[in-house]
Order: sequence, then structure tokens, then C-alpha cells
Amino acid sequence: MTLTRYVPIKNWKCSIKKYGIKKYGIKKCGIRKRIENGRKDRMDMAIRNIREIGDAVLNKKCKEVKEMTPRLKELIGDMLDTMYEANGVGLAAPQVGILKRIVVIDVTGENPYVMINPRILEMSGEQTGHEGCLSVPGKTGIVTRPNYVKAVAYNENMEQYEVEGTELLARAICHEIDHLEGNLYVDKVEGPLMNVEDLDDEEDEEDEEEWCEEKF
Ligand code: ZN
Repeated sequence: MTLTRYVPIKNWKCSIKKYGIKKYGIKKCGIRKRIENGRKDRMDMAIRNIREIGDAVLNKKCKEVKEMTPRLKELIGDMLDTMYEANGVGLAAPQVGILKRIVVIDVTGENPYVMINPRILEMSGEQTGHEGCLSVPGKTGIVTRPNYVKAVAYNENMEQYEVEGTELLARAICHEIDHLEGNLYVDKVEGPLMNVEDLDDEEDEEDEEEWCEEKF
């Protein structure tokens, strides 16, 4: 995955999501529908406050989850709701102030992964591109990540499973596992950390569709 130009929309997560919609032919309303359906299904839905850079909780190492509890199930549901509400493709528990090794990821809007105690088993290749974080609003920077990742984790029923991802999913798994170690992507940025707004101005002239076609 090589992102050399930037789609002029609010943040990296949105731009990648737009790409995903086009690339994989997912209905544009997919993510919104999912949120609405989720709300109907779950009466206890809650959006949690996303902690931002400077908050000490984001720099702490998270603890393993030993057993599933009703409270943790509620947390996982809230994390999914919070991620979708913020138009994110991933969220780690420390981002909502909980120091547990729990991550949620959904790079297509239709296929959420709940990853408890995730561990990377294999990685290979390389991708260099823009990255953003819900805990670092308005910023973006270039980060190199493996292009393929195989990970093992537990789901919300504490059943172990493996997940393999390339491109955006591989990037998201790495980004979220970094959160569990207390690391933010800003420490891995190559070159300056940029303001999304500045890029928006620069790229106003660009044709979004063309960008989606010619990259990757
Ligand atoms: Zn993040």
C-alpha cells in the first residue's frame, strides 16, 4: 500500500474507508447502516470519551484479559459503537481509558474484529503511507508498516482465532497493538507530523476518484 497523495477529507481513517468502499464495492451506506442496526440491537449502547494525546493513559502498557465478564462485554460493545461513531477503523481500550489488552477493528464497515490479548505471529513486506489516530485529532503522518500480518487473539467469547491481513488491515492491527504497549504512531512518523487541514487545502484540486484508482 503506497499512499503518496491524500484524499481531501477529514482524516486518514475516513480516506482509507472511502478507498475501501470503492475498492471492494461495499455499499456507501454500509457503515452508517451498521451503526443504526447496532443501536437497534443493543439498548445499552454508549459512546465513550476518546482520550487524546497528552493523556497519560495512552502511554501505559495494558494488562492481559484473563476472563470475560459482563463489564468487559459492555466495554467491547461500547468500543465498537465509539469507533463507528468517530468514523474510525480501529480502537484500542486505552483510547477509552481502560488499560486492558482489547482492540476492535473494522476496515470495511461490515466485518468487525474483536481482538483480546492479540499477538502478532508473522509479518512480512512493507507499506509506507499516511496514518492517523482518533487520539491525535487533525494530524497525519507517514508511517511504514508490514504489508502482511498474521495475528492470534481471542474473541468476545474468549475463543482463540487467527486473523491474516494485508494493507489496511495489517496496518490497523499493528497500530492498535502499539496502543496496547503504550505507543502512539506519532513516534514512528517519517518526516513531519502534518495538519490534515493543510493537506486538504493542497489537495483541493485533486480528483478523488483518480486517486483511488491509481494508488495501491
Ligand atoms: Zn490510534
